[in-house]
Amino acid sequence: MSGGEGVKCNKDGNVMVFTYESEKLKGDQVRVFLYYKCPVCGSRRDIEETRVERSDRGFIVTRRVYTGILREPVST
Ligand SMILES: [Zn+2]
Repeated sequence: MSGGEGVKCNKDGNVMVFTYESEKLKGDQVRVFLYYKCPVCGSRRDIEETRVERSDRGFIVTRRVYTGILREPVST
């Protein structure tokens, strides 16, 4: 019922570690990947991809959340 004990690797059952990495794209765009990674086998589970780009009116943030089924970008 707690749900807060972490994500487990579906290969070996180890608790996966939350990781993120950012990648600079051309111009002012930055892309950030959020994912869990298994420290034992290196298996990776994507959580979210966020892209930030600068426009004339400020920043545009595009989020793509991986929930298994839903793969729609969410604009904020
Ligand atoms: Zn694993």
